[in-house]
Amino acid sequence: MNRAKRTEIFRRLRESNPSPTTELHYASTFELLVAVILSAQATDKGVNKATARLFPVASTPQAILELGEEGLKERIRTIGLFNSKAKNIMAACRILVDAHGGEVPRERKALEALPGVGRKTANVILNTAFGEPAMAVDTHIFRVANRTRLAEGKTPLAVEQRLLRLVPKEFLQDAHHWLILHGRYVCTARKPRCPECSIADLCEYKHKTAAIVRGDAEAVNADRGGDAAPTGGEKPPLDATS
Ligand code: SF4
Repeated sequence: MNRAKRTEIFRRLRESNPSPTTELHYASTFELLVAVILSAQATDKGVNKATARLFPVASTPQAILELGEEGLKERIRTIGLFNSKAKNIMAACRILVDAHGGEVPRERKALEALPGVGRKTANVILNTAFGEPAMAVDTHIFRVANRTRLAEGKTPLAVEQRLLRLVPKEFLQDAHHWLILHGRYVCTARKPRCPECSIADLCEYKHKTAAIVRGDAEAVNADRGGDAAPTGGEKPPLDATS
């Protein structure tokens, strides 16, 4: 994909959503950190429900330590893997209090040293809380970047590095939000909504037009001998932090 196409893709994504942000609810960097840790293999909606129970009673590392692991579990038990997430959050809070004065650090190395925080989570914090042009490649970005050929790569890290190199500077700050939202609502995993896609004419996904725009996905599926789910290089891996 050439630079002109990449620029036009982001121009259109920006036009339809000039100020994109995360769909997780949070009121501080620490709350964002907790929400992102909870979001591994969970929906934002599910996380928001749990944090609506948690944050009114504990919204700082010290308050969560005082709440205790059982109290924390009680409030997040509707989320998958809540036991291990609770352990990680407790351990992270201990480090934040002991080593960072109760604040979330701004350095990648210090963020990734927190239990439950991998590269993707660190990137979300650096980008959304601290305004750095970091690219948190989740399963949606990985799929959209590969399908469209915006930035192909076999691993989230490879896609992250290509996006950082190839996305025009003016779009870098918000690019990951646009791509996540596009993947979540339009370029969905099993049935991308190509007829409604604002970048369909720029996207280089090989299977989109004949299969979806003609509204004949089933017939094409049969030709392909399987599901409309995309195949090949865009099969999403597990999220980097999961
Ligand atoms: S045209 Fe289809 S495959 Fe390409 S980005 Fe849009 S929804 Fe995804």
